[in-house]
Amino acid sequence: MSDFPPDDSPFGDRDSRPSRGPRRDRGDRPPLSPKGRLRAKARKKARKAAKKSGSGLRKKMCRFCADSKIEIDYKDPKGLRYFVSETGKLIPQRISGNCARHQRAITTAIKRARQLALLAYSSGHGI
Ligand SMILES: [Zn+2]
Repeated sequence: MSDFPPDDSPFGDRDSRPSRGPRRDRGDRPPLSPKGRLRAKARKKARKAAKKSGSGLRKKMCRFCADSKIEIDYKDPKGLRYFVSETGKLIPQRISGNCARHQRAITTAIKRARQLALLAYSSGHGI
């Protein structure tokens, strides 16, 4: 007598389970046609090129670092206006793209210009 259960027991070998048909899991996409495969390849290539050239996400550059001829002057409200929002608020570094050093200089210049009434503190006090 063997200790193994007979074949018809519920603990029988696993291969005898009824098959549930083709599996439909997440990775189970219909096979691409030759044309579709080419298109997918082109898409991948385009994405790679975009990443390389940076057309998708433009790298911000501090304009003062890029061009040393531009000066930050509190007596030049026209130049400072670019770093002030419509409502008169300072444009943050992450939007303007300035480096820390120049953002600090801009902030000081704008505050000075406000004191001299060259720039507005808020939109309600137009110049
Ligand atoms: Zn800079």
